Formats: sequence, C-alpha cells, structure tokens
Amino acid sequence: MQISNGKTFLSFSEALSAGIAGTVPAFNWLVPLLDANGADEKALLTGADRLRAKTMGNSVHLRGLIEFSNFCRKNCHYCGLRAVNQKIKRYRLSETEILDTALKAEKLGYKTIVLQSGEDLHFSSDVMCGIIKELKNKTKLAVTLSLGERDETTYAAWKKAGADRYLLRIETTDPVIFKAIHPDSDLEYRKNCLYILKKLGYQLGSGVMVGLPGQTSLNLAGDIIWMYKLGVEMVGIGPFLPHKETPLREEKGGTLNQALRLVSVLRLVFPYAHIPATTAMGTIDPLGREKALEAGANVIMPNITPTGVRPLYEIYPNKICLDETADKCFGCVTARIIGLGRTVGTDYGHVKRNTK
Ligand code: SF4
Repeated sequence: MQISNGKTFLSFSEALSAGIAGTVPAFNWLVPLLDANGADEKALLTGADRLRAKTMGNSVHLRGLIEFSNFCRKNCHYCGLRAVNQKIKRYRLSETEILDTALKAEKLGYKTIVLQSGEDLHFSSDVMCGIIKELKNKTKLAVTLSLGERDETTYAAWKKAGADRYLLRIETTDPVIFKAIHPDSDLEYRKNCLYILKKLGYQLGSGVMVGLPGQTSLNLAGDIIWMYKLGVEMVGIGPFLPHKETPLREEKGGTLNQALRLVSVLRLVFPYAHIPATTAMGTIDPLGREKALEAGANVIMPNITPTGVRPLYEIYPNKICLDETADKCFGCVTARIIGLGRTVGTDYGHVKRNTK
C-alpha cells in the first residue's frame, strides 16, 4: 500500500516510521490506515505500540469508574439507559455511597476516579459541587467527570469545586449519522460543550463510536481531524454494540479489529494522549483490552461501582466484570497488565500538555 504525506508517496512502513506520527492529520493517510488489513494492519498496530512505549512509557494508568446513576433524560438510539426504556431498574447512589466507593478506591491504590452517569438532572450543579468538594477534602484523588451535556455555568462551577478532567464523547461528527442516533441532541450544541470545557481548562477527553450504521472510514477520519483541531488530550473509543431494548437492536455491531485500528491511528495522531483500552473491547473479545494495550492504548478504567447496582448500568449488552468486587477487579487488571510486561502507573497520569 502507498500512502501520500502530501509531498510524496511513501510505503506503508515508511509512512509509519518516517514521519506521519504527530503531524497534522489528513484524509489521504488516515483513511488507508483505518482500512488497513493483513500485513499492513499488523504493521499499524505494532508501529502504534512502539510509539506508545516511546511517548507514554510502559505504565498503564488505572482510572476507577463509579457509575453513580443510570437515570437519563435522553434517548440515544444505541443506549440501554435511554429514558424510554422501562425494562431497566433505575438507581442512584447516595453521596455517602459515592464517597465510600472513592475512599475504598484510594485505599486500593487508585489515583483517579471517574464519576459517570446518564444525564441525570437530580445531580444538579450544586449537588455535584458538594460531592466534588467532599471528594477533594477527604481524598487526594484526581476527579474526572463524565456527566454529559450541561451549560457553561455548571461546567465552570464543577471546575471551581475541584474537578480535574471531563470526558464527553462526540460519538460522530457526521451531521447525518449524529442526528440519526441522537434524536434529542444537537451536534453543534455538543461541539460547543467541548469548546467550553476546553476553555475552562479541564483536561479534556472525547471520543467516538466505531461500527455505527452507515459510518465509513472517511467519517472516522473526519472525526479524528475534528478532535485534533479541538485539542483533545484523552481519546476513548468504543465499538458500537447493539442493545435489544433500543431502535438499533437489529444492526450489525462494530468489530474488535475496527476498534484496534482506530486505537492505533489515534496513537499516531495523538502521540501523547491518554487512550483507554475500553471495557467494550473486553466485551467483544476476552483479550480485547490486552490487544488494545498492544495497539497503542495506555489506560484501563476498571469498574468499581458497587456490585449490587453494577449490572443496571447497561449502556450496551453483556458487559464484563459485573460481579467482581473492587479489590478483586484491581488484582485481576493488575495481573493482566503485568502479564503483558507492563507496569501499573503509580502517578496521577495527568495529561501531558503542549506535546501534541
Ligand atoms: S448515551 Fe448517555 S445521554 Fe445517551 S441515553 Fe445513554 S446515558 Fe443517556
């Protein structure tokens, strides 16, 4: 395969080794990489893994995920938590339960917790400010929020209360696909949320879903270019997995290989970003997370939500690690990381700025 870098044509391996990593991404090399197969695909994954070792080192950072509410006001067509789904039991953790879970995580050795929920307005600006301040007073944890779309005043209040990072996946920047899967969201509004979060100084994460109906490599390349312009510092991707209680139940899901190629291409475009090996990849393939760690990823987000409610946070079906207690999960993930010849990060794993 030949790839143009805008000046000349390079062979696939020349393109990987001689200079596209960290350069301004362009459709003419993103698309062939996203479509790579056979030996080219292997070279892409290996090249991205090598680059990860050079830029991010051998450590894998663990972020403890607390899914504290499965209430949601929205109806995304791929998500089991959508408001109209009456087949799931809804739950909210109390502020004490959230704090207790975080304290246990810190004791186990976590440096970061991720507070994630559906778009649940019960957790108002003030309620979340109280939780964030309490966490910051009682622990030394870095706090990442993943609470969806809110207004600028709210994002600013949470930042002031001590939140360090924010994750908001754009999912797709293609206006037609975005509208088709988000009946009650607006692409420009979502983009604006991300611009605001950036302006407020959050360490910023976004990401996309791969394998969506009608999505092409050209769409994914467009997503990558948009995220590059935004300046994301953490990039999470998940294969689309159809859930039976959603309108997309009959669609074909994304594949692990699509997801792995995307992880690798993201590593080339964002040499210093934090890229998770997501649980959804572990759902498609028991070794999916390990494979992602060997394709450019450097983060794992173990689920530390209390096991009593964990199965109820079913964005997609057949999620893994539903029964393991937080300490069992920590041991299991640590063993998997060591099994790959890597180490568990002992620092905060904050984003590396100005090194894009
Ligand atoms: S993807 Fe998020 S916003 Fe959409 S329905 Fe699910 S929880 Fe709600």
